[in-house]
Amino acid sequence: MNHARQILGIAAFVLLVAGFAGGVWWFANRNALEQIAGKGRADLALAADRVSGQMLRYRELAVVLARHPDLAAILSGAGDVAAARAVVLGFADMTGALTVELVDARGRLVVASTPEGGVYAPGELPLSRALNGALGTRHRVETDADGTSQRIFAFAAPVFGPEGKPIGAVLVEADVRRLEENWPGNAPAVFFYDAGGRVLISNRSDLVLARLGEGGSFPDHRVSRVGEHEIWHMPQEPYLPDRALYLERDMPVLGLRAGLMLDTASASRIAVTQAALAGALGMVFGVLLFLAAQRQRALAGRLMIEEAMTAELERRVAARTRDLSRVNADLRREVTERKEAELALKRAQAELVQAGKLTALGEMSAGISHELNQPLMAIRSYAENGEMFMERGNEAQARENLTRISELARRMGRIIRNLRAFARQENEPISDVDMVQVIEAALDLARPKLKSGGVTLDWVPPTGPVMVRGGEVRLQQVVMNLVSNAADAMVDSDRREISITLDHTGSHVSLSVRDTGPGIAEPERMFDPFYSTKAVGAAEGMGLGLSISYGLVQSFGGAIRGANHPGGGAVFTVELVPAGQEVAA
Ligand code: ADP
Repeated sequence: MNHARQILGIAAFVLLVAGFAGGVWWFANRNALEQIAGKGRADLALAADRVSGQMLRYRELAVVLARHPDLAAILSGAGDVAAARAVVLGFADMTGALTVELVDARGRLVVASTPEGGVYAPGELPLSRALNGALGTRHRVETDADGTSQRIFAFAAPVFGPEGKPIGAVLVEADVRRLEENWPGNAPAVFFYDAGGRVLISNRSDLVLARLGEGGSFPDHRVSRVGEHEIWHMPQEPYLPDRALYLERDMPVLGLRAGLMLDTASASRIAVTQAALAGALGMVFGVLLFLAAQRQRALAGRLMIEEAMTAELERRVAARTRDLSRVNADLRREVTERKEAELALKRAQAELVQAGKLTALGEMSAGISHELNQPLMAIRSYAENGEMFMERGNEAQARENLTRISELARRMGRIIRNLRAFARQENEPISDVDMVQVIEAALDLARPKLKSGGVTLDWVPPTGPVMVRGGEVRLQQVVMNLVSNAADAMVDSDRREISITLDHTGSHVSLSVRDTGPGIAEPERMFDPFYSTKAVGAAEGMGLGLSISYGLVQSFGGAIRGANHPGGGAVFTVELVPAGQEVAA
C-alpha cells in the first residue's frame, strides 16, 4: 500500500518534471526560433536587395539609353546607324547585359547588340508597355541547344519624341545566372519564384526552375506552425535542412516572391539543452525534496512510536490503577462485610450466652425454688413460734425468732438478687471484678443443686478480694457451668466432692474446679458446641455450656482448659487477667 503510493508519487513527480522540462523546451524553442527568424529576416532582406539591386541596374540602363541622343536621332530618321550600334554594343559589353536593342514605335528592330535581336513581338510584354510610355518588365526561360536553360529578365523603357510621345523603346535583357555565381557559400537556402510558382533564382542549384504548389517539382515538404512561424519538414532532402524555418518576402518590382529556409537544428539544440538542464535541475530538486521528506517521515515515525509507547504506558498505568481501585473497593467491601459478620457473630454469641444462662437457670430452678421455699417455711414457723412466745411473755425467745426471720429474709433477698442479676442480659463493658464475690454468687445459685445431689463443696475463699478483668455476670455463668457440670458428672460416683481453688500468682489469676467423677470421656471434643454426653432432651444436655464458657473466657483475655486428674476425676482451670493489666485483644 505504502509502496504503491510511493511509486505513484515518484511517477507523478517524474511526470511533473517532464511537464516542466517540456514547458521549458517549448518556451526555449520559440525563443530560439524567434532569434533565428530575426536573423533570417535580415538575411532575406539582404538577398532580396541584392537580387533586385542587380536586376534594376538593367532597368535603369534601359531608362538611361532611352535618352541617348544617338538612339533618339535614329528613330527620328536623322541618326547614324553605325553610331547607334556602337552605343548599344558598348553598353551591353560594359554592363554584362545579354542584349541591348532599340525598336521603333511599331516594334520593329532598329539596332541590336546581338545578331539575333527582335526577341519580343510589339504587342508582347515588356514592349507593349514601353511603347505605351511606361516601363515594362518580363522574364522568360529559354533552353539552349546544349540543354542549359537561361533565365532572362527583360526591361523596356520608352523613347520619347519631341512632342512627348513614345517613338520607340530600348530593351535590355539580362541573365540571372550571373547573380548566382558569387553568392556566399554558407548562406541559408534562398529562392525567388514568380507568380506561377516557378523558381527563377536560388543559391541552391537543385531548386532552380522547380515549381512550387500542387504537383510541382519543388522538393516535398510538410508544413507545420510554431506560433506565427512556419516550419518546413524535409527529412529526405540531402542538401536542405530536415527542419527549416520558412520566411517569405514580396518583391513587387520584379514580380517575384523571395523564400528563405533556415535550419532550426541550432534552435532545437538550444531548446533541448535548456529543457534537459531544467529537467536535471528538477530531478535534483526532487531528490533533495524526497530525501528531506524521507527524513521528515523517519522523524515523524520515531515520534509516533514514542507517542504510541507513552500511550501504551499510560494505558497500562490506567489499567493498573483501575485494577488497584477495584481491589481496594473489594477489600473495603470485604472489611465491611467482615465487620457486619463480626457484629452478627457477636449478636449470635450474646444470644447464645443468654440462652446458656437461661438453660443453667432452668436446670437449677427446682433447686432454687426449694432453696427459697425452705427459708420461707422456716420464716413461717419462726413467726408462728414467735407469736406463741409473745403470748407466753417469753420476749427473749420471740426476739431471737425475729432475728432468725430477718436473717432468712436477707438470705432469700440475696438469692433473688443474684438470680435477677444472672438472668439480666449483660452488655456492660469489661471492668475490674472481684473473683471471690463472683464465685460466692455462683455458688449461691448452685448450692441447692449440690445439696440435692449430695455433693460436698471444698471451697475456702481467700481473705481479701482477687480482682480480675471481666464481666461479673458472665464470669458467674462460667463458674456456675463448671460447678454444675462437675455435679452432673458425679451423679453415679460414690464419692461426690467438688474442690474450688483460686490462686493469684504473678501475672495470672487461676481458678480450678476439680471433681471426683469419672473424668472426661473425650477431652478434645468437649469444647465443641452441641457436644454432650448427657441424655438428649433431658433438662441437662444442650452441649453449649463449655463452648459458651470458652468464648467468654477468651473474650476477657483468658483461657480455659479441662483435663483428667491423675488422682481421678476431671479438673477445669480458668486463667484470667488480673485487674490493672490491659486485656490483650
Ligand atoms: P452439657 O453440660 O450440656 O453436656 P457442656 O458443654 O457443659 O454441655 O459439656 C459437654 C460435655 O463435656 C459433657 O456432656 C460431658 O461429657 C463433658 N464434661 C463436662 N464437664 C465434665 C466433668 N466435670 N467430668 C466429666 N465430663 C465432663
